[in-house]
Amino acid sequence: DLQQETRGFETEAKQLLKLMIHSLYSNKEVFLRELISNASDAADKLRFEALSNADLLEDGSEPKVIVDFDKDAGTVIISDNGIGMSRDDVISNLGTIARSGTAQFLESLSGDQKKDSQLIGQFGVGFYSAFIVADKVEVLTRKAGSNTNEATLWTSTGESDYTLATSEKAERGTTITLHLREDCNEFADGFRLKQIVKKYADHIAIPVLMPKAPELDEEGNEKEAEKEFEPVNDAKALWTRPRTDVSEEEYQEFYKHIAHDFEKPLSWSHNKVEGKLEYTSLLYLPAKAPYDLWNRDGARGLKLYVQRVFIMDQAEQFLPLYLRFIKGVVDSNDISLNVSREILQKDPAVDSMRSALTKRALDMLSKLKSKDAEAYAGFWKEFGQVLKEGPGEDFSNREAIAKLLMFNSTHADSTGQDQSLEDYVTRMKPEQEKIYYLVAESEKAAKNSPHLEIFRKKGIEVLLLSDRIDDWLMSHLHEFDGKSLQDITRGELDLGKLDDTEEDKAEQEEREKALQPLLERVSKSLGDRIKETRISHRLTDSPACLALSEDDMGAQMRRIMEASGQ
Ligand code: ADP
Ligand code: MG
Repeated sequence: DLQQETRGFETEAKQLLKLMIHSLYSNKEVFLRELISNASDAADKLRFEALSNADLLEDGSEPKVIVDFDKDAGTVIISDNGIGMSRDDVISNLGTIARSGTAQFLESLSGDQKKDSQLIGQFGVGFYSAFIVADKVEVLTRKAGSNTNEATLWTSTGESDYTLATSEKAERGTTITLHLREDCNEFADGFRLKQIVKKYADHIAIPVLMPKAPELDEEGNEKEAEKEFEPVNDAKALWTRPRTDVSEEEYQEFYKHIAHDFEKPLSWSHNKVEGKLEYTSLLYLPAKAPYDLWNRDGARGLKLYVQRVFIMDQAEQFLPLYLRFIKGVVDSNDISLNVSREILQKDPAVDSMRSALTKRALDMLSKLKSKDAEAYAGFWKEFGQVLKEGPGEDFSNREAIAKLLMFNSTHADSTGQDQSLEDYVTRMKPEQEKIYYLVAESEKAAKNSPHLEIFRKKGIEVLLLSDRIDDWLMSHLHEFDGKSLQDITRGELDLGKLDDTEEDKAEQEEREKALQPLLERVSKSLGDRIKETRISHRLTDSPACLALSEDDMGAQMRRIMEASGQ
């Protein structure tokens, strides 16, 4: 009894498959990167599981991936001796789309192929990329520790369904056979495959083996001989290598592997720390925000290794929440191999690593900002709102975070959030003591606020804030570079030395006297809907404006509270 059955793909898997085959057609070779990446993950998982159950290693063979091909049959075969899959694993991993955001992803598709193929890059495609080059895929897999007759054979043409059958497999792990589409036969070629492996998988920490080129006899024909395999990569964990040994491309490919991203990272920081604590970290700044950046339980955190052994994905304890967009690896010599998430939370070594890694990440951002303004603008667009959570969350790095913030401003050249506090300070008037800002509902409302009139008149720059989080941000940011930050809509406006001269003041007093009756009339008619009516010299063009008193809740904050029914 082969327990054969045919099952339909979930609707989403079907859609994704179709889309992928079309949109990635110009970049077919990525299938090999994805399949080798999975094999490497499977080796990591086996090593981890074997820490508590050595029997899983069965024959004890060293982890490896083999990339083989058969020119005549038009096949490429990728096999590993990693963790393997049970029948249930196969159904849930290859029959549905594991990623929880897939439905969301499909919703965000526009139908414009070019745009969509960029989108697919953000999500990663994984196993299904096999169908870019193959019209039939067979997966023979056996979970480590199970009997040799408990293997599963999964077969699909990548259309609407797949079949499962129970099968035999001597070695644990997974063998994937790709039956190449007619126009993809170029991949059943040792030279071509090797070239792709070098390009995309050189950083993989386990050996990738390929058949040795056959020897030729005098007439140039291949000699009959047993096929031999040789490693084509270094098989050294990338982060263990010295920085000077690792090329840009290798760093980039490694990022794509660990982040399941198709796009290059914006920047990275690779460091080895020795001393009281010993660890290596490799932090990456992605170019694009993931779809689940705002999900409470979206993927975040670093990949944790202990002495080169993979321990867990998404170890959140090593970075604060406001840096949740950072991806990377941390490999520690001081954490126990059988650590759990709970233990991580209490480990003082983790605390010190967290504060050091936080500084590293902020430092990486700061370097990017000073080195490449355009790239930093890209970062800010994707992640600026998250970084704005920083000053409220991380008191000790407040100043460093403040330096990284970008603002819209009344400065003539400002277009969008492109001015830093440092930029502002360099433009401050000699007599100016404070940094002025305004929070409004939208960029437009900010720009048109009557509160700005006096500042425009006097030529004083004001930062214009209008993001949802800005009230909250500013409630945690009281000064920068020794200068206090002043909300221009609050209380009595104190322009300090920039204020009007004695002559101006005498003139104003005159006016105030004349306006007293009007003031009383306004107070009376508005009654207790307002706290007080005051003559202001803030306005130059508008007749009146509403102001908050110093201790009032910000307008945005009030709207949020109202919306939540408070
Ligand atoms: P991802 O690698 O991002 O999880 P993939 O589509 O590449 O997504 O793979 C889906 C899942 O299938 C993996 O998470 C893993 O559980 C399983 N899988 C794929 N390839 C292998 C393999 N060679 N060995 C064991 N499990 C695998
Ligand atoms: Mg994968």
